[in-house]
Amino acid sequence: MPTAEPTIFERIVAREIPATVVYEDDRIIAFEDIAPKAPVHLLVVPKTAQYANVTELAAGDPQLLADVVAVAQKLADRYAGGQYRLIFNTGHRVGQTVFHVHAHVLGGDQSEGTLG
Ligand code: 5GP
Repeated sequence: MPTAEPTIFERIVAREIPATVVYEDDRIIAFEDIAPKAPVHLLVVPKTAQYANVTELAAGDPQLLADVVAVAQKLADRYAGGQYRLIFNTGHRVGQTVFHVHAHVLGGDQSEGTLG
């Protein structure tokens, strides 16, 4: 049976492609977004590729979702003075490009930002 192509985030977890990792534990990794849309733009990613989006994650493993949010807060405290936006794009029409659930943590001064 053919296996699905690994997502870009699985390849980052496996260290097949480089990333600036800012947090890691046994279930979660966080790294800088390659195309930042705010002064601080981190991605917090469950290592498992089982969940394509936040709705699936919430239904399948609510503790892991809570842990993703806790890591986001910890990173925002460290890099963005504790203030941040937490975005889960859900669906290609709103811009989701990687179908492996991930939280965008956006911080820093966004008074001139265009992120809608
Ligand atoms: P989405 O649009 O799916 O919500 O978010 C995917 C994010 O992953 C985008 O913000 C994009 O810039 C980021 N991204 C895509 N490929 C890579 C990569 O190879 N490395 C890193 N660090 N970020 C990536």
